[in-house]
Amino acid sequence: MLQSLLCLLPLLGSLQSAELPAYDTLRERIMDTERLATVGGTIWLSQDEEKANSILMNAKRAEIAEGFKNPLKYAPAMHFFQGRQYVHQSEVFRIIQRMPKGAFLHGHNTGMVSSKWIIQNLTTSSNLYTCMDVNQLLIFTYDQSKCHSEIQNVCTERNDLNEKDRMKYERQLERHINMHRKHPEMMLPNRTLIWKQFENIFTTVDKLYKYRPTYCAYHKRLLEELCEDNIIYAEIRASLSPLYDETNRTYNTLEVANELERIVEEFKAKHSDFVGLKVIYAKRNRASEDEMAKRIVTFKQLHNAKPNFIIGFDLIGNEDTGDPIHKYINELSDLPSTAHYFFHAGETNWYGRTDWNMMDAILLNTKRIGHGFALPKHPQLWSTIKKRHIAIEVNPISNQVLGLVWDLRNHPASFMIAENFPIIISSDDPGVWGAKGLSYDFYYAFMALAPAEADLRFLKQLALNSIKYATLTSDERRKINRVFQKKWLEFIASVIRN
Ligand SMILES: [Zn+2]
Repeated sequence: MLQSLLCLLPLLGSLQSAELPAYDTLRERIMDTERLATVGGTIWLSQDEEKANSILMNAKRAEIAEGFKNPLKYAPAMHFFQGRQYVHQSEVFRIIQRMPKGAFLHGHNTGMVSSKWIIQNLTTSSNLYTCMDVNQLLIFTYDQSKCHSEIQNVCTERNDLNEKDRMKYERQLERHINMHRKHPEMMLPNRTLIWKQFENIFTTVDKLYKYRPTYCAYHKRLLEELCEDNIIYAEIRASLSPLYDETNRTYNTLEVANELERIVEEFKAKHSDFVGLKVIYAKRNRASEDEMAKRIVTFKQLHNAKPNFIIGFDLIGNEDTGDPIHKYINELSDLPSTAHYFFHAGETNWYGRTDWNMMDAILLNTKRIGHGFALPKHPQLWSTIKKRHIAIEVNPISNQVLGLVWDLRNHPASFMIAENFPIIISSDDPGVWGAKGLSYDFYYAFMALAPAEADLRFLKQLALNSIKYATLTSDERRKINRVFQKKWLEFIASVIRN
């Protein structure tokens, strides 16, 4: 037995049989070697960090021990919709919420704000209606001509109700913009159906956000929710579709970018620790080559006008039913040297089909890969990713909600963590499934994806990775490092204090 383990381990292979360590020592060495090789394994902790770490690990070990006894209440092994209530009882989660997470690097603007906040705050104007669209899907609209059914004025309907019925009415509205289901397992066999439900949400709110005042209020809230979750910088995917305002003036894509930039600058002026938000121009992955060429032209104009705000380009949508990146190689092969690709790729369970998007993303020199769920199946690709430091944006809860994996302990990122891949953790569309910021995804990464003994080093490395793989000027990098360092020390002190 010992001999066969030694054969598997080049590290110990040089030992002579006469010097073989005792069996338990050998086990320790194997486990230590694995620990050192994982994400965060080589991080050194200060004395105070060690103290905070032991508090964190006491809580983690207690939760795992309890979960082992009672798996039906162990959130990391459950679907998020069923486990969320137990996450809220978790001491580990409370510590993670307080932790500075660095940068938020994978999210879609229109899926990021909490659905409850949207219903309570963005559906109160007197000229907002609900009705069915041409496909009999409920939509919010200011324009009654878009309706193909009876039209309801949201304000009038709500004002006619007593407090209890009003809350019930708001919960009903929220169901149209949130994926939450009591029995998510009913949806699981059909990813096409899950995606349809997911995309319907964006159709339901589409006209709501095209109205400039609503768009502005929404994005201010987006920034607030990031700050509330201790995130100090973000790069978000956005399509920058045209807006209109009270005077019926329309705003083209560049003007929308101006609006968004103004909102970010105003927010930064009030929140001196917030480093900023930048945009990855994201368009649907279904289009003719000509349409894609036009999108690239628009992107180049945007990037040319705002090189440090519109930083890159991405294709979004269900990869399994969308067009492959390969279709657009000609259109995508000429990017300005200051811009980057941040392709969604490998968000699939297929092996040898859709997952080749990851190859094309790499060949097109992508800076990061969104999801990379299928990456462990492709050693040629992952060796390149490690060598070229292409970060993988792992979105655990998104992958679960969109039906790629049921139990997050089986998520392929466990392999990437064990092998210290350049990963960051993000949350994709947290507002659409009752998450917020990054804390829920960090919790699942810590409790379900990482080994049981992964500790504060792992969490710190995730935060440091998010800064490392962000697209920052040297001035911004200096600021983010300074702010993160300060917030990290405050966090450590607060863990020790409590
Ligand atoms: Zn995404």
